[in-house]
Amino acid sequence: MERYTRVYARIDLDAAEWNMKEMRACLAEETRILGVVKTDGYGHGAVPIAKAIDPYVAGYAVATVEEARNLQRHGITKPVLILGAVHPSCSRELVQYGICPSVFTLPQAEALSGAALELGKTAEFHLAVDTGMSRIGVSCGPAGADLAARIAGLPGLRLEGVFTHFAQADEADKTSARRQLGRYQEFLGMLKERGIEVPIRHISNSAGILELPEAHFDMVRAGISIYGLYPSDEVARDRVQLRPVMSLHSAVTYVKEIPEGAKVSYGGTFTAKHPMRIATVPVGYGDGYPRNLSGKGCVLIHGKRAPILGRVCMDQFMADVTEIPDVREDDPVTLIGADGGERISVEELAETGGGFHYEIVCDIGKRVPRVYVRGGEIVGKKDYFDDMYEDFV
Ligand SMILES: *Cc1c(COP(=O)(O)O)cnc(C)c1O
Repeated sequence: MERYTRVYARIDLDAAEWNMKEMRACLAEETRILGVVKTDGYGHGAVPIAKAIDPYVAGYAVATVEEARNLQRHGITKPVLILGAVHPSCSRELVQYGICPSVFTLPQAEALSGAALELGKTAEFHLAVDTGMSRIGVSCGPAGADLAARIAGLPGLRLEGVFTHFAQADEADKTSARRQLGRYQEFLGMLKERGIEVPIRHISNSAGILELPEAHFDMVRAGISIYGLYPSDEVARDRVQLRPVMSLHSAVTYVKEIPEGAKVSYGGTFTAKHPMRIATVPVGYGDGYPRNLSGKGCVLIHGKRAPILGRVCMDQFMADVTEIPDVREDDPVTLIGADGGERISVEELAETGGGFHYEIVCDIGKRVPRVYVRGGEIVGKKDYFDDMYEDFV
């Protein structure tokens, strides 16, 4: 960690494993878990997270072909499902590497079938069904079921699963989620009438896992809960106890006194009403630390809250340490996580800045190295400065 004096995200792999055990305990034995590690594992690092949770999952879900290949290149051998639309031109790559796409249009299915025949392989896919999200998926009526039958009948293809996605399962009122669940079940009935076998049925995201046991089916798709965050503040926190996986750490680079009337940061939005002591923290929106925490957020120094003064810059911001004795350069600063009895959660940052907690972790930038910890020991690091460029001379 000595290398990372400016900022680093600490990724607690024990917490990720704890979260998997907690979820496992609320699922029926036969219900499998798909680990959702899209957006580089919600900003935590897809590969280390996938490896940490591997004993608990049947496979992984990502958003893109590149994300799927990245897992495979790093030795992940369990099935990988792509949750979003894949361009038909990627079909060969899917078949060649045995990556499972979500299919819901005839052109996609035909391209996949063509690639499978060409390569002499069988391509497995999951059929996406739209039950209320209006994002991807065949319609959940008879026309959609007919299309599904046509797709499933194409040569070289094997329908492995049928899934849909909740739009509002994280709300206290489950009316909408139950309506989607009803449509999904009806659709499964239509497939059955058409003689289509569905090996794996899945609908639940984290909110479904935590609050809709009737929606667990054969498999659930755990995303945000792996990382120790609840899908929303309307979701019950007593049944499954999640532990946050990411914390964000920095250190003071400069401490100084400012006189009454001094302005702080761009725009001079903060003016000192009395002499103050302020600390400069070398993290900014260029690291994914939200600029909308300007003048609102806090950091922890010596286990106490130090309010952010004025605007968060691209690479730095200032915090008020007037009330915190003996703050010196190099003293640790906690931006997310606990210090002493105080804690700043990702949810608090989201609420204070008017943001979204999923987005905060996903957006922690490439300039922030990740340090992986297990049993109190550093077991790995990732920094994102080994970029590869093609076609530049
Ligand atoms: C992202 C995603 C998930 C995971 O959702 P969480 O709320 O993070 O658990 C599950 N299914 C689909 C289709 C998704 O896109």
